[in-house]
Amino acid sequence: MSTSHHHHHGDGHGHHHDDHPYSHDPAAHNARMKSDSAYMEDTVERVEHDLDYYQVRVIALMNLLREKGLITIDEMRRHVEEIYSQTPLIGARVVARAWADPAFKERLLADPKAACDEMGIDTSSINKLVVLENTEKTHYMVVCTLCSCYPRALLGQPPTWYKSFPYRSKAVVDPRGALRDLGYDPPKEVELIVVDSNADCRYLILPRRPVGTEGMSEAELARLVNRDSMIGVAEAFTPSEFAAKA
Ligand code: FE
Repeated sequence: MSTSHHHHHGDGHGHHHDDHPYSHDPAAHNARMKSDSAYMEDTVERVEHDLDYYQVRVIALMNLLREKGLITIDEMRRHVEEIYSQTPLIGARVVARAWADPAFKERLLADPKAACDEMGIDTSSINKLVVLENTEKTHYMVVCTLCSCYPRALLGQPPTWYKSFPYRSKAVVDPRGALRDLGYDPPKEVELIVVDSNADCRYLILPRRPVGTEGMSEAELARLVNRDSMIGVAEAFTPSEFAAKA
């Protein structure tokens, strides 16, 4: 396929292509992916990657779907709105209720989807949902070694580091190192268990309830639950950490 061909607009094909250094150059993309896997032993970084290549692809794909009449702009907008309506606040509500109500916690661990249903939270997009409780003895952390499987109905979209090669490989090879890269250093005596999520099964981590939260309301507790604690790469905020942040 000739590259120059695609740079001629108005060639009668009815397609509109953005001129962009990455848009027609799979070799450049492959080189990028290769350099990503070279980071395998590197540190897990929280920085967002350069998304130019993917932005151009997404726009091209959207235009194609629209031109072929497969989806309207309005349908795309509604779907994007649905995606953005999913945030870690949903998972935080679940965790806070489990902290506040031991009977609910038992139901949540036994049948996570039914427990979410009780709270009016729709988890129908998740096939199997597993909730794992972190304790002072056992710490679970979640990775998707294959791609980026994530309980989006409860946590929204995964952070970029979760999808990155360094996290996906290091979480398995050196989980403590991966946690340290992300700013969390659990005590040596804590047993680390890495769970690998996939298309079939998604995990929600129930972080430990912070000390000094006795008598707090569910809404107050929910504010202490952060996204990373529900992936198992951090603890929930203590009340003083939360106060310092606010
Ligand atoms: Fe995945």
